[in-house]
Amino acid sequence: MMDVNQFKDHEQVVYLHDKETGLKAFIAVHDTSLGPAAGGCRMWNYENELEALNDALRLSRGMSFKNAIAGLKLGGGKAVIMGNARTDKSDALFQAFGRMIDGLGGKYITAEDVGMTVEDMEVIAGETKHVAGLTKGAHASGDPSPFTATGVYLGIKAAVKHKTGKDSVEGLTIAVQGVGHVGYYLCKHLHQAGAKLLVSDINQDSLNRVEQEFGAEIVDLDKILSCDVDVLSPCALGAVINDETIDLIQTKIIAGAANNQLARDDHGQALMDRGILYAPDYVINAGGIINVAAETRGAYDVDWVNTKVNKIYDNLQVIFERSVSEKRPTNHIADELANEIIDKARAAKG
Ligand code: NAD
Repeated sequence: MMDVNQFKDHEQVVYLHDKETGLKAFIAVHDTSLGPAAGGCRMWNYENELEALNDALRLSRGMSFKNAIAGLKLGGGKAVIMGNARTDKSDALFQAFGRMIDGLGGKYITAEDVGMTVEDMEVIAGETKHVAGLTKGAHASGDPSPFTATGVYLGIKAAVKHKTGKDSVEGLTIAVQGVGHVGYYLCKHLHQAGAKLLVSDINQDSLNRVEQEFGAEIVDLDKILSCDVDVLSPCALGAVINDETIDLIQTKIIAGAANNQLARDDHGQALMDRGILYAPDYVINAGGIINVAAETRGAYDVDWVNTKVNKIYDNLQVIFERSVSEKRPTNHIADELANEIIDKARAAKG
């Protein structure tokens, strides 16, 4: 069911239908006060149009918030293509999608997301220049994961500092759920900084790699959330903090890369009530979009990226402190800060 009131702020929502290729997609432009709406394109086997629309609306608003707090001159948008990412792809379908993005005249910039590959993005880029996150070409930014991992590492340090006063993770035990692209680089940072690692993953090869390279201890999939650790870092799935898991959690800090870690908004309050510090996901995992955003500026500049990624530490400190002084959960403070930045930009634009 869609709560219409929750989504009354969107600037534009477009339904794309191309009879010839079977393309069915939505593009949701949430807000362009800060700049063109940027956010990935997801390909997913949605049950129906309503489910796809709901996802596009929710995700595009999340991108507005993420881009605003990351200090990017970008608004928030998202595209969702309805279809099976394994069986329904064709060049013609992505070319039709690319032409439709081009028709929006740069109001929406697309990038890779769940179900899409770099190769798919290259096909789309053949029809429109409003694509970012490419691996080829003069301004290509490449794999965003190492930047996301650096941001998460800094976010963990900010959370540790806030909770314990310590400036380092040395000697701390940190549980990382999911050691894929981001999780691997995160483990590398943490290991180099002297942390002890507990890891879980459904992929044995990924586990072997972090065990061998960083001496990580492998933990059962269903045990990782309840480990008695200093920090829990969800880097796999969304909705890991939910009604079933919340009382199992032993840590006092949750800081990880996964999107949409809270199954519901009010789980932020529930964590706060249990004395658990939660680093809002879209603030701590912004390193990737910062790297992608560098591509939209013309020339890719790694120093510009690193400056913005380093700022994730400060952004989280502000959120943590405001959460304490206002006695409100960090996820609400983050949403509010993002809205303040967007409102200011909107007012400046008149
Ligand atoms: P990935 O697919 O490379 O890694 C995810 C890992 O989680 C995989 O190794 C997978 O096997 C593992 N996994 C799946 N189910 C699991 C389970 N039940 N328990 C433990 N492990 C499980 O993805 P990624 O690019 O590393 O992204 C990780 C998370 O961070 C995702 O939620 C993603 O949306 C988010 N994120 C990623 C980036 C980025 O730059 N890649 C940026 C922002 C947010």
